[in-house]
Amino acid sequence: MTRGLFIGRFQPFHNGHLHVVKEILSENDEIIIGIGSAQDSFSLKNPLTAGERIEMIRDLAKEMGFLERVIIVPIPDIHENMVWPARVMELVPKFDRVYSGNELVLALFENFGVKTIRIKHVNRYIYQGSVIRNKIISGEDWKDLVPEKVYQFLKRVGFEERIKRLARNNGEVNK
Ligand code: NAD
Repeated sequence: MTRGLFIGRFQPFHNGHLHVVKEILSENDEIIIGIGSAQDSFSLKNPLTAGERIEMIRDLAKEMGFLERVIIVPIPDIHENMVWPARVMELVPKFDRVYSGNELVLALFENFGVKTIRIKHVNRYIYQGSVIRNKIISGEDWKDLVPEKVYQFLKRVGFEERIKRLARNNGEVNK
């Protein structure tokens, strides 16, 4: 029995994330999806709550038939980077390897002696949370950048309206 850990903010969960999840599931029996920055919400960088992100991914997993193979765990940020992997390991079930394309995440887990796998980004300049959030602000179409089920969920929770409203205060979306 093997488990792969995949941590992200998923603001929102897009086609690039889905590609990675499928790859992890093809190499492992189960995937642990860590909802990073779980304490954040209603900001331009992190508009969705941890609860909404869990629901969004569960809806998709249910539709795609891999719900029994996914464990979703919220992971709040802490200020000490060096001990973050230990904090993560306290929160999630046992895993065999960490998959990431985020260099900080890879470096911290490597430093901790955990096996890491560097994922390849798919259409990185399109499938990116900040691109999607900026498209919403500028009124461009973004439907095709996320799985249909995710799009439906985001419509339901008023994702577009939330981002546009937050942007009235802040202007640009941070990465
Ligand atoms: P993200 O949603 O931007 O990305 C999640 C993962 O998906 C990353 O591995 C990324 O490389 C991958 N990805 C993104 N676009 C892709 C694409 N087009 N194709 C394939 N893969 C793609 O989330 P993130 O910001 O990387 O999440 C990292 C989390 O870890 C954050 O919440 C961060 O705060 C947290 N963290 C916390 C600490 C701490 O608390 N001290 C330290 C390090 C990281």
